[in-house]
Amino acid sequence: MRAIVVRDEGVQIEQIDDEFLGDGPVTVDVAYSDLNYKDALAVTGKPGVVRKRPLIAGVDLVGRVAESSDDRWSVGEWLILNGAGLSETKHGGYAERAVIDAEHAVKLPEGLSPERAAALGTAGYTAALAVLRLVMEGVSPDAGPVLVTGATGGVGSVATMLLSAAGFEVAALTGRVDELGDYLRGLGADTLVAREDLANPGKPLQAATYAGVIDSVGGQILANAIAQTKPGGLVAACGLAGSHDLPSTVMPFILRGVTLAGIDSVWASLDDRADAWRVLARGVDLDQLDAMTSTINLGEVQEAGEQLLAGRRHGRTLVRLDA
Ligand code: NDP
Repeated sequence: MRAIVVRDEGVQIEQIDDEFLGDGPVTVDVAYSDLNYKDALAVTGKPGVVRKRPLIAGVDLVGRVAESSDDRWSVGEWLILNGAGLSETKHGGYAERAVIDAEHAVKLPEGLSPERAAALGTAGYTAALAVLRLVMEGVSPDAGPVLVTGATGGVGSVATMLLSAAGFEVAALTGRVDELGDYLRGLGADTLVAREDLANPGKPLQAATYAGVIDSVGGQILANAIAQTKPGGLVAACGLAGSHDLPSTVMPFILRGVTLAGIDSVWASLDDRADAWRVLARGVDLDQLDAMTSTINLGEVQEAGEQLLAGRRHGRTLVRLDA
């Protein structure tokens, strides 16, 4: 079978055999994977994701159980596995078969096809975890707008769509207002915020504007977003597409009671995963999802990864393993 393998010498598509996959309780015929920011780093040979080599890349997989010694899983069932070490220390989804420890796998939720579940992937599931966190901490649509940063990206696009469907007013921050403003409005963004508006150092406390924030870029933008969060508001930090720094102060936390909540999709509990996938199955507009999804095959993943890191893709990228 074909697989995208990360080695010390580089990354390439290789023919591998079952032995390469190792042992585990569940064998999956992988039908789909997708392209996330972390995948883009891995397949372009950048550091920070793959911690063991050689390793099959791909943080997500959607497929059918081919063999199982795990009571939870029967042959023929569809499962979704996001993160849980895939493409970090365990072989990931960029191969036609996977041998997994299915402890963190979830069943395909009713209402989502395998293809659409993969199109949502880790980015969509992370957006759902962030929206759930906001709601659980008491942020409601009548509390004020929610700022979504990196809005045209995978996490940002799905967060915008879910928040809008749940009745929130969404302010979408993007570096591509002119190019992709209509795309974001189509997903439900009420206002557009230019990336440069939050890109420079600002005061520790700024006009209290947002009841919540879903951030996938980090750095100065996250610091300014925190400084613009209303008293009692919540900021969900999901990513570092801009920077891993956080040049902030304690002022918003101690004077406005703002909460900074970290979102970790990789090791989220099975309950949280199931909740997030239920939210996606109910809250995602399938036409919008289809419109924001582009489809590629295994041979196109590396080039698409370069494009994603260069800011030349948006929305979600589905990877077909059978093509
Ligand atoms: P994408 O590349 O799809 O989206 C990232 C978006 O961030 C881009 O589309 C762009 O949006 C914006 N962006 C890119 N570069 C910069 C920059 N230098 N400064 C400011 N904004 C920038 O990635 P994903 O949505 O898949 O992932 C986003 C982040 O979230 C990544 O850091 C990823 O590692 C992280 N992540 C974390 C997870 C977790 O478990 N916590 C799970 C999933 C992702 P625009 O053009 O609209 O400004």
